[in-house]
Amino acid sequence: MICCIAGGVGAARFLEGLVCIAPARNLSVIVNTGDDMELYDLHISPDLDIVIYTLAGIVDDLKGWGIRGDTFHSLDMLGRYGGETWFKIGDKDLATHIYRSYILRQGFTLSEATARICRSLGVEVNVMPMSDDRVETMVNTEVGQLGFQDYLVKRGAGDKVTGVTFRGSEYAHPALGVVESLCNSDRVIVCPSNPILSIGPILAVPRVRMALRETDARILAISPIVGGAPVKGPTDKIMRGLGLEVSALAVAELYKDFLDVFIIDQIDRELRDRIEALGIEVIVTNTLMKSLRDKVQLARTALEAAQEENG
Ligand code: GDP
Repeated sequence: MICCIAGGVGAARFLEGLVCIAPARNLSVIVNTGDDMELYDLHISPDLDIVIYTLAGIVDDLKGWGIRGDTFHSLDMLGRYGGETWFKIGDKDLATHIYRSYILRQGFTLSEATARICRSLGVEVNVMPMSDDRVETMVNTEVGQLGFQDYLVKRGAGDKVTGVTFRGSEYAHPALGVVESLCNSDRVIVCPSNPILSIGPILAVPRVRMALRETDARILAISPIVGGAPVKGPTDKIMRGLGLEVSALAVAELYKDFLDVFIIDQIDRELRDRIEALGIEVIVTNTLMKSLRDKVQLARTALEAAQEENG
């Protein structure tokens, strides 16, 4: 069994490769919900959607989020009513948010809504939200505290970051199956996602971090920082804002209390010794996922590395 810990686009790219070489029934994915938001009374779970659409084979590959070939008529119409249109929701995507909110309003959990969406879209991987409790990623900036989507999408990640907090995380329980998955898997893979904004909220759920420290599974991560910069997104701005160096080494430091193996890009090979000095095994390979072949190759490297000790 393999348990993955995932944010959005970076993670989904990796998972696309992983499902090509590992049976879906052996895979579970714990997904960040710190980015979730309410808009038009709908519950939107961006990272869950990116992961699910990718595993269902319907993601818009160019954008990395949303549904391929989707149209935006509803959003245009909402704009005509003077509604908010900064968060781009396609017509088919809207149906997911309506359906999820409908299930939640009937008193079911986000886990249950997620399971139903996966079943309907033919996703066999066990995709789980990190928690059914609300955890909100808040970004402290020079203009004040902003919700994650306000910071990233509405304001284009343009504000200087001074800190990040995960509102509600200290009281949040892991969703049903999360701890079991971490403890009963042979391997845990932390996907290449923003370590602060995507993996951070998952690790901020106390029982999750504890399970990572306690599990017998071999834990491996793939660096989202390649050559001192993120492949996409504002990971560098966030890390710098928190006083961290933007490097694979700094990511390793964030995970060092539970990490066994770290996969870094060949361009960062000179960091090997310093990461190994943290007590973490290092694998150097190409981590840039430009094609499906790259994704499969990286997934294969991760599986082989994760397998080594367990035999
Ligand atoms: P987001 O919330 O949708 O931006 O998703 P994530 O947090 O999962 O992804 C953002 C992170 O994924 C960034 O730090 C990127 O550097 C990383 N990332 C995206 N594509 C790749 C890739 O091809 N290789 C590696 N190593 N990292 C990637």
